[in-house]
Amino acid sequence: MDKNNIKKNNVYISEEEKTLNWNEIQDSFKKSFGSEIYTSWLQKISLVKEYNDYLILGVPTRFFRDWIVSRYLDKILEQVKSFKLSLNRIEFKIIEEAKNTSDLIKIDEYNKVTEIKDSLLNYNRLNSSLNFENFIQGKSNDIALSYSKKVCEHLSRYNPLYICGGVGLGKTHLLNAIGLELQSENNVMFISAERFMYHFIKSIKKNDMVNFKDFFRKSSVFIIDDIQFIRGKESLQEEFFHTFNSLMDKGSQIIISADRIPVKLDRVQERIKSRLAGGLVVDIDTPDLELKVKIIKKKILEIESQFKENINLSEDVINYIANESKTNIRELIGILNRVIAFGRVHNKILTVNDCKNILKDVFSQIKIITVDKIQNVVSNYFNIPLSDMLSQRRSRPLARPRQIAMFLAKKMTTRSLPEIGRRFANRDHTTVIHAVKTITRLSDQDDEMKKNINQIKSLLLE
Ligand code: ADP
Ligand code: MG
Repeated sequence: MDKNNIKKNNVYISEEEKTLNWNEIQDSFKKSFGSEIYTSWLQKISLVKEYNDYLILGVPTRFFRDWIVSRYLDKILEQVKSFKLSLNRIEFKIIEEAKNTSDLIKIDEYNKVTEIKDSLLNYNRLNSSLNFENFIQGKSNDIALSYSKKVCEHLSRYNPLYICGGVGLGKTHLLNAIGLELQSENNVMFISAERFMYHFIKSIKKNDMVNFKDFFRKSSVFIIDDIQFIRGKESLQEEFFHTFNSLMDKGSQIIISADRIPVKLDRVQERIKSRLAGGLVVDIDTPDLELKVKIIKKKILEIESQFKENINLSEDVINYIANESKTNIRELIGILNRVIAFGRVHNKILTVNDCKNILKDVFSQIKIITVDKIQNVVSNYFNIPLSDMLSQRRSRPLARPRQIAMFLAKKMTTRSLPEIGRRFANRDHTTVIHAVKTITRLSDQDDEMKKNINQIKSLLLE
């Protein structure tokens, strides 16, 4: 890699440098993956942005992304690399298709509100897969769930309904489920506080506050997610307060989520806090083992029926995963996906020990980390050319970084030892084993080594 290239890393490249022709790449996918896989999966991927060293690709759903990542990512990367050598990483962005956008645009053709609507459809559309049906009840979410349902039966009785709890515990899922339940007979608005601010600021800039107010105040069910986002943002709070009041005045139902109870919302005006707490406040607690196990089992069934695939996880493994994930259901599902993906790749029934290995470093595993990326980051870190690091030369200043890269490839990807060896200029798997042992030992004994490894890891996880 030459110096210019390194400098360009992570910088969005200029128009002239965009080199990829996505149609051409799609054609090559079709050839190499075969038309069946191509039409069910690859065809639906779009190119969102091209950077010098990585691509952002668009996919329709989270599940779609997980599936692609676990089965086809390496091959996709290899393929796009053949069109552009400097690429070493792929990221995915979930782009939901806008439903009925064209109709709305027609109705509002001359109305500026279209833009807000349009953007809301893209970013805040209700997700049909987060419904009451697949929200599993447990001790920790029992009350929140039952009041979410009650709100749907008796609009305006609990107003506002305020659902709070830590990250990844199901708040957005519940809000979304309420929205789905009510949308056929009500004018439902579902938005995150962050997105609300985005429209607010945009409308101020365009001097278009009238439309903004109209738009947000005409809903009969107003659902706003992650209200803690307004902390410390005075003018946003002001606007929210007015929106809130005018909605309440006309009897609209308001549902709010937050990561904490109203009184704990520091840097939020008192009058807003008391408004937020003025209806019903319910919280979601961290899940117990029983709920986690139920959720895992339900997820497995979902995957099996969606993909006509048998997923064979023993009770032991399920319990192990449930125990391993301490507090957060999002993380729990991430871990499960990881384990399932590993089982698929290696085509075997997993033991608890396998899972231990897979989850050794859960957080780094969940990120998409490729051997290529590790090699690039390590060679940059030690300031040596990648070609030297991969070469057969054995001098210590090259050999150590090479071993560190192999060690990290083993720890942070699901590649097997022989596969890793091949990617290091066709070395034998025993060389990789030796590298892993050496670096494991050194990072135990040597603080400097430990520090290096940790810094490289965090660069990889950035
Ligand atoms: P939050 O908004 O509180 O951070 P989310 O609603 O995004 O959390 O939930 C994180 C993930 O966990 C989502 O995929 C959601 O569907 C799932 N989840 C949370 N609670 C449950 C539950 N009780 N049953 C099924 N899935 C759940
Ligand atoms: Mg959320």
